[in-house]
Amino acid sequence: MLGVVQVLAAKLLEPDNPQRAGEAAHLAHTLSTRSLRAHPSRSAIACKKGCGYCCYSFVATLPPEVFRLAQVIRSSTSVGLDIGAVLARAQPLRGLTPEQRFGAKLACPLLIDGMCSVYDSRPLVCRQTTSVSLPACIEEYDGIQGDGHVEISPAHLAHASNAYVAMLAALMALKHSTHAYELGAMLEVALSDANSEQRWLEGEDVFAAIAAPVVRSPRVDQAAERLASELVRFM
Ligand code: SF4
Repeated sequence: MLGVVQVLAAKLLEPDNPQRAGEAAHLAHTLSTRSLRAHPSRSAIACKKGCGYCCYSFVATLPPEVFRLAQVIRSSTSVGLDIGAVLARAQPLRGLTPEQRFGAKLACPLLIDGMCSVYDSRPLVCRQTTSVSLPACIEEYDGIQGDGHVEISPAHLAHASNAYVAMLAALMALKHSTHAYELGAMLEVALSDANSEQRWLEGEDVFAAIAAPVVRSPRVDQAAERLASELVRFM
């Protein structure tokens, strides 16, 4: 794990690279995908192309992941994935809490025609939530049951969580902001200002105006803090 944190930190420190935050997220995503390929799930996965029930949930992401998405959206020529369309779809989600989103059937602004339009760059939280039960996903979508009701693949959870903790640790070691916020609100900030990534890299919490950051499990932060302090000793 420490090696992964070192790789991500080295990317975040790359000189004269204004896209290094988004590229660090891309590296974390690639590492997560490759480790899952090497150690795949033993559970039968319920997720299928075109099934987007989980894409109506509250998604919280780290800043580098949103900058990666902004890079992908800016360079995209896909119908519906232009900045104006994404911002319009993010608008109804503004200010809503996870509780308000539950059962409200409000789609992620990146869900187009029932499919994730940024699948290869989807956040680590989306990679974690790989279901083994379609009926459970539908119950959550309908607002019947929530709060961990959907059983997810342990392998997907582990590989994406490791990448998430490594990213968090790299951010902590370099004293970047580590707050996570709701995806749509973060996209509004990152897409509205072409310099937002640069400003964030220079130490400004460009997302600070978004209501409150999402509260993470203390265990996630503690694991990242341990790795960050190990990395700092080597720097
Ligand atoms: S980013 Fe993609 S996978 Fe994640 S919630 Fe949005 S549409 Fe779904």
